[in-house]
Amino acid sequence: MAELIEQTTPRARKEYRCNLCGCTIHKGEKHICQRCKDEGRIYSFRTHIACMDITNKLDMDMSELDEDSFSDGFDDYFRERYADEDGELPEHLWNMNRDEQVRMLLKDLNLGKYTVRLEEGVWLAPWEGDPGRTVIVDYAKRFRSEKNANEALNAARLYRPFKDAVITIKLK
Ligand SMILES: [Zn+2]
Repeated sequence: MAELIEQTTPRARKEYRCNLCGCTIHKGEKHICQRCKDEGRIYSFRTHIACMDITNKLDMDMSELDEDSFSDGFDDYFRERYADEDGELPEHLWNMNRDEQVRMLLKDLNLGKYTVRLEEGVWLAPWEGDPGRTVIVDYAKRFRSEKNANEALNAARLYRPFKDAVITIKLK
């Protein structure tokens, strides 16, 4: 079984293919890079930040994840996130291809101005962990509403109390 050695969020030095959705990670794009070890072989598993975020939200088992099972999960997530009151996706979203859907999610994740500061100098991050954390505010997970940020904080508190946690607003 693959073992995670380290996870970073570098900017792409060249074009890569997301190992989850199969779409392009563009040169210069900040993305998730997991260095993994499998039977002595070391390799990089690269994904869009949005795609890794979905695996966390859906609680997908990374060791059993392939592009097909991720694709199903992505559809469910996308529908749930953007459905109208009737539970239907608006037509223009329905007609998007995967790459456009990923771009839209990335934009949404970036544009939210609310972040969760778990403690002094530590923010909730959009990747896996208990919970995922970062000391760089630019990598902090963004939320579009205070309510969403609070829900994420409550989820993080299942791991530990974070009694000094606050919702912060990042202006940009
Ligand atoms: Zn992706």
